[in-house]
Amino acid sequence: MPAKDDSMKIKSEINTYCPTCRKHGKHKVRVASKGSARPLSKGNRQHRRKLRGYGGKVAGEKTVKKMGKRTKLMLECIRCKKKHERVMGTRTRSKIEIKA
Ligand SMILES: [Zn+2]
Repeated sequence: MPAKDDSMKIKSEINTYCPTCRKHGKHKVRVASKGSARPLSKGNRQHRRKLRGYGGKVAGEKTVKKMGKRTKLMLECIRCKKKHERVMGTRTRSKIEIKA
């Protein structure tokens, strides 16, 4: 009996709109990885200052548990080699698999 495979399958090449070329064309697809957090970015510094105490309630004091993750795809235009992201619409627990 084959094992149950509930991963989402996506083609490695899709035809979609490129905002740089302003045309539809072939794009290479891969899963976008989240870059490392920048501890010295402005937003992060502001947030840490707020968490220190003053200024009432602050969002993000408790860790928020969400069901599943929202996955991003990185699309690379074959014509101009520019990359842009696409967010998958739903939160899923299943992994995304890119097939040829
Ligand atoms: Zn392009």
